[in-house]
Amino acid sequence: MSFGAASFRGAANQRGAVVDHRFARRALINEFRRGRLRRDQVCDAHPELIRAATNFGQPTSVRCPICEEQEVVLVTYVFGPRLPAFGRVVSKASDMATLDRRSDDLAAYVVEACTGCRWHHLLKVLPVGGRRPRSAASASQ
Ligand SMILES: [Zn+2]
Repeated sequence: MSFGAASFRGAANQRGAVVDHRFARRALINEFRRGRLRRDQVCDAHPELIRAATNFGQPTSVRCPICEEQEVVLVTYVFGPRLPAFGRVVSKASDMATLDRRSDDLAAYVVEACTGCRWHHLLKVLPVGGRRPRSAASASQ
């Protein structure tokens, strides 16, 4: 199984806007808690995602909604032209700032993952780079 943006649960082809996937995440967790989904149906993160979560995951105080044994971590992948098909894991703000200065339209996928039970879910997709209107914070650059 190849690894890419489609490997993230909740991923869809949505570009150019900030997309929030927390509603879908909550609905899925509710389905699991009602017994309509088995654990192996929601805890199937790609090994590549678990490796990135282990090495580059940003800690959170959010307990895993499935195993409830440890906190989930956040992994940010950036996809787009002149980046690997399997994306680039970005763990530093300075690296993200560098990508954001590119003229290519890129997309950052913020994924929540549990290295214990392999639960994962896409939280949001953010546009990065590109010739879009700059926010006030970066207008002075
Ligand atoms: Zn877990």
